[in-house]
Amino acid sequence: MNVHVNSDCISCGLCVSTCPNVFLITDGGAAGVYSREVAPELEEQVQAAADACPVSAIEVG
Ligand code: SF4
Repeated sequence: MNVHVNSDCISCGLCVSTCPNVFLITDGGAAGVYSREVAPELEEQVQAAADACPVSAIEVG
């Protein structure tokens, strides 16, 4: 699984709370990811974060 945060992010911080091993708030204020590649054991959390993002800014594939 790959993950990416697009420019729709409103910096609410929910994904960072849900999955701090993958998401972070970047210096610019928006969320980002440490690595686009998601470890298998984190895929469920990343999918949950993507589903919960209020503006659907988390793209998984
Ligand atoms: S949950 Fe969505 S809007 Fe909120 S910080 Fe994460 S990517 Fe941005």
